[in-house]
Amino acid sequence: MAVPVYFSDLKTTFTLNLYDKLGMLLEKISLKSKIRKGELVALKLHFGEKGNSSFIRPTFVRKIVEVVKQCQGKPFLTDTSTLYLGSRRDAVSHIKTAIEHGFDYAVVGAPIVIADGIRGIGAVEVEINKPIYRSVNIGSEIVHSDAIIGISHFKGHGLVGFGGALKNLGMGCASRQGKLNMHSTVAPRVSSRACTGCGTCARWCAFGAISYQDSEKKAHISPKTCGGCGQCLTVCPEKAIKFSWDAKTQEVQKKLVEYACGALKGKEKKSAFLNFIIQVTPDCDCFSSSNTPIVRDIGILASTDPVAIDQASVDLVNRQEGNQDSVLSKGCEPGGDKFRGLYPDSEWEVQLNYGEQIGLGSRKYEIVKVDL
Ligand code: SF4
Ligand code: SF4
Repeated sequence: MAVPVYFSDLKTTFTLNLYDKLGMLLEKISLKSKIRKGELVALKLHFGEKGNSSFIRPTFVRKIVEVVKQCQGKPFLTDTSTLYLGSRRDAVSHIKTAIEHGFDYAVVGAPIVIADGIRGIGAVEVEINKPIYRSVNIGSEIVHSDAIIGISHFKGHGLVGFGGALKNLGMGCASRQGKLNMHSTVAPRVSSRACTGCGTCARWCAFGAISYQDSEKKAHISPKTCGGCGQCLTVCPEKAIKFSWDAKTQEVQKKLVEYACGALKGKEKKSAFLNFIIQVTPDCDCFSSSNTPIVRDIGILASTDPVAIDQASVDLVNRQEGNQDSVLSKGCEPGGDKFRGLYPDSEWEVQLNYGEQIGLGSRKYEIVKVDL
């Protein structure tokens, strides 16, 4: 049976604005029936790396906070520390970055609680008994919350093709140990022809895995030290660092889907997902800048199924004509695969197929439009 995925486009009137339409989406997924008085509700989102400008607008999050409060729930905004040395590497830096991006109590009406503690080690081992993992390491405040709302900015992603609800849950709720575990099979390599020796990758590598060979001043990655976080791939201005898009990157997608199961464990009926298909950038919000969107702004989706909402988001993006001013050079025609256009060898379907295979959700969905 097709799962309903509710959709609001961006059309508004003087009497019905986009916040009202977001409220209508929350009604459609019966958010109020999932939250009881006094429950702690995790609003899992991405605050954006310092310099990024495509993260979800805090005023949209405020609308969701208001609805949770109407149920007398206690909402908090949450995310986990990053593997790499950016502006969200520990809870103090993370909260500072979030507030600088507008996620302040005065704006959003809810406090920030970083899910894995001040140094990214506050985690709980959650038993899932799936094909890859028996248990996964999830940020403790996610585990200890009563309900979870995944609020995702839908966009491209250099390692897994696209980032939506599954990635927000799977990678985003994992502790540092969990993230490391998921990435550990990925091994990047440097094209010495393209590398200019600028040093950017080494500055971002939290593992000290990148050095320079004196004579040529080319980056060299030590496979033994590399943690597989993927950050060097995304920061290299020359696109000189490559991953082999093979079984290993497909394995990362499967792992993050199993981690998503761990993040939702015990809260399967107390969870909801929103995907904002607005400012669809080629890369994720971990970037310290936001490149030109690959398609026009499309709207907001809501569902109780994280697989269905991501499948619907992919389809809506691929249906559009590609933005000629963006980095997208292939798959630009309506119906063309925008994510393979960005990352030609990515097998982004793996996360959706695997999510369905292990019972996290369904790829069969039906769009139900919220009309004016
Ligand atoms: S960021 Fe790219 S160009 Fe710069 S040193 Fe690293 S691999 Fe070379
Ligand atoms: S070399 Fe390895 S650990 Fe360092 S940034 Fe690249 S992928 Fe991450």
